[in-house]
Amino acid sequence: MRKTIERNKKIYSQRITSILQLDKGSVFFYWKGRVALYALLKSIDIGENDEVVMPGLTCVVVPNAVIYLKAKPVYVDVSIETCNPSFENIISAVNERTKVIIVQNTFGLSSDVDRITQWAKRMGIYTIEDCTHGFGGTFKGKPNGSYCDAAIYSTQWNKPFSTGVGGFSIINNELLTNSVQQVNKGLISPTVLESLQLKVLIVAYKILINNSTYWILLSLYRWLSKVGLVIGSSSRNEISRVLMKSNYFKSASGTQYSVGIKNISMLSTYLKHRKINAEKYSQFLKKHGKYYVLESLHRNHSFLKYPILVRDREEFMKKAEKNRIKIGDWFISVLHPAYPPFEHWKLNIKLLPNAKYLSEHLVNLPTDVKDINKVVKFLEGNLSNILNFNELKSLGFNEQKLEG
Ligand SMILES: *Cc1c(COP(=O)(O)O)cnc(C)c1O
Repeated sequence: MRKTIERNKKIYSQRITSILQLDKGSVFFYWKGRVALYALLKSIDIGENDEVVMPGLTCVVVPNAVIYLKAKPVYVDVSIETCNPSFENIISAVNERTKVIIVQNTFGLSSDVDRITQWAKRMGIYTIEDCTHGFGGTFKGKPNGSYCDAAIYSTQWNKPFSTGVGGFSIINNELLTNSVQQVNKGLISPTVLESLQLKVLIVAYKILINNSTYWILLSLYRWLSKVGLVIGSSSRNEISRVLMKSNYFKSASGTQYSVGIKNISMLSTYLKHRKINAEKYSQFLKKHGKYYVLESLHRNHSFLKYPILVRDREEFMKKAEKNRIKIGDWFISVLHPAYPPFEHWKLNIKLLPNAKYLSEHLVNLPTDVKDINKVVKFLEGNLSNILNFNELKSLGFNEQKLEG
């Protein structure tokens, strides 16, 4: 048993390093991606009076990991084109207390990672790439995660490939390896019950998530959440306040290795499929003068989702559901999926006008559907609700900026 787990871990690790084109170095596995981030931050030894610079449009578990270590998250406003902060905005948020800069591939999109990492290195600031959306994608020809000192990845349900829940980190800066190993000594193991629950969930998910059961399950899930019988991948402790649970710092289980080996083999197929679908969305949106993911970003992009902007999101989502189109709701809050007020996270929304705008108008088109024409047809019927470039110019959206 123990031996099988160790063997699986090794194989899984090799598959990951091969996709990321790492010649050497280790992969560190955790129960979730957020735990991988926490381990990295702890190994860098951040604490009181330290600041961690991050995008002002992210998942709430990112600032949580920083706050658990008593450091301060500093949020940087994003550009509309990439849903990420620009180099210039990042450096203006840095001061002598900044210990770490977190860069993110939002929906698979990255921005200025090369410039940010080069600059940070000169300044003696660590960089961590949040590649939870972008595993398998590249930035300027190099795999997501290869620019920074370290990177985290997630294998939660909706991420590039899944092990139910799960995550890992890779280290590019060898100086960090030792301290991560030290920090990892504090990991607790998942209980037998937790491992079992995960196994059951993975099997149930596989059986139930097909098109005909999806909508029934969605209503069931909503009802169960409403009456408080299920929790999603984040708990109340994580999204309505900042409280570190005693069993937060948890290692991966054998299930995650064995499922990981199987599902990572599907990644290249998924990526190809997503890219083809995304091209179709782009062509359609471009033809109609609507906001779309710029072509220069396509080359790098893993297209976990396809972000578009709509005027009236509530109406758009309602109609989509009626038409049985699976529209994603990621980043409909600047600290997804937490809601204002954000005082627990020390976030002042007034300082993040673009992130705020995006969080109010973003919807995510599915890239993993078989019948994309159905989605395109739906878009066609709702064109007037989709925002166009002119409407975004006042926010600095620049079609030319990233082309070429
Ligand atoms: C999903 C996600 C995470 C955390 O991943 P988990 O495996 O769920 O902990 C971190 N950052 C971003 C941007 C994410 O979307």
